[in-house]
Amino acid sequence: MELFETVHQSGHEQIVFCHDADSGLKAIIAIHDTTLGPALGGLRMWPYKTEEAALNDALRLSRGMTYKAAVSGLNLGGGKSVIIADPRKDKSEALFRSFGRFVETLQGRYITAEDVGINVSDMEYVLQETDHVVGIPESLGGSGDPSPFTAFGTLQGIRACLRQQFDDETLSHYSFAIQGVGHVGYHLARMLREQDAKVFVSDIHQDNVDRCVNELGCEAVPADEIYDVDADVFAPSALGAILNEDTLPRMKFRIVCGSANNQLATEAIGDELHARGVLYAPDYAVNAGGLMNVYLELEGYNADKANHMVKGIYQNILNILKKAEAEGLPTYKAADLLAEQRIAQMARLRPARTGSFRRHRLDSRRLNGRH
Ligand code: NAD
Repeated sequence: MELFETVHQSGHEQIVFCHDADSGLKAIIAIHDTTLGPALGGLRMWPYKTEEAALNDALRLSRGMTYKAAVSGLNLGGGKSVIIADPRKDKSEALFRSFGRFVETLQGRYITAEDVGINVSDMEYVLQETDHVVGIPESLGGSGDPSPFTAFGTLQGIRACLRQQFDDETLSHYSFAIQGVGHVGYHLARMLREQDAKVFVSDIHQDNVDRCVNELGCEAVPADEIYDVDADVFAPSALGAILNEDTLPRMKFRIVCGSANNQLATEAIGDELHARGVLYAPDYAVNAGGLMNVYLELEGYNADKANHMVKGIYQNILNILKKAEAEGLPTYKAADLLAEQRIAQMARLRPARTGSFRRHRLDSRRLNGRH
């Protein structure tokens, strides 16, 4: 792999290779773009088969964070970090504190959070070495579980899509198929049922399905049959790449709007959805509620403010859909263009935000009695 060529191609500002022989840490911090503010993105721990696979994951995910923050109107850049190790075997206090020290050396250019393979107790070790961590529990001065906010944001996206596609956003007039009723999917099902919508649910864990059926009155669908359901809206809330050549021909949905990351297997699938008249709400704009929630930790967290901000996803999605319609573009492309446009406009004003975020952060903690 030609390292600098790879980084040049992906447009990244900085890649930090973190190595600490004593703790066994092998990590990569990828900072994609800090034009809009400090690069924020989670830490993933995964037993990558090769170092190249780890680097590619960090590059891809951090770039996605840049676009998500930009299109959502947040003053954040995109970053992500990965630790190459097995989360079931290789965790230790020394490993996470060592990682925290590397984050600290970046002095706020990168802010970390939990991602796949990382839990709260791991983050408590990271927090001992750096303040540049968000998404931590309320008991530690953080904002807690972001899933209800992500679900609420997804609901705003769904309403915007209904407005655009049918000019009527009364949820009870439509049927919904939710793939995956874990943290986000469950809350989405609950909110839709509260509005008397018809909701089909699938999950590979039967207890998750049962909870939705018994508690909320949803209808269960076998996991591999969710694509065939005759519903108006498909809400992917589990895996990536589920919009692909195999699933597309099976779908009768008029709208796809869900929280799952990287739903399109390829851009060509996004083009195909567009050609078929299926309204696809770009995933990174739909699922930004969780990011908005942790963003507010930097200013001093306030749940009312978070709700207000997440409500704005309605207008964000509508703007994307209107641009796509006006310019005859697939929606994923319209979202990318809006994100790139905002970054380009702000590049000239490039504010030195990192210092002020850090001050806010420390101030809010002092107010919470943590210092
Ligand atoms: P989760 O792990 O709690 O829930 C995912 C659910 O999907 C689980 O119940 C799992 O059993 C189920 N599932 C897995 N494979 C499936 C399949 N083939 N068919 C049906 N169900 C399947 O995760 P989550 O936090 O609810 O996140 C859901 C999606 O939203 C993920 O793609 C995540 O990256 C994305 N997302 C989540 C947040 C958040 O705030 N949690 C924020 C942004 C994006």
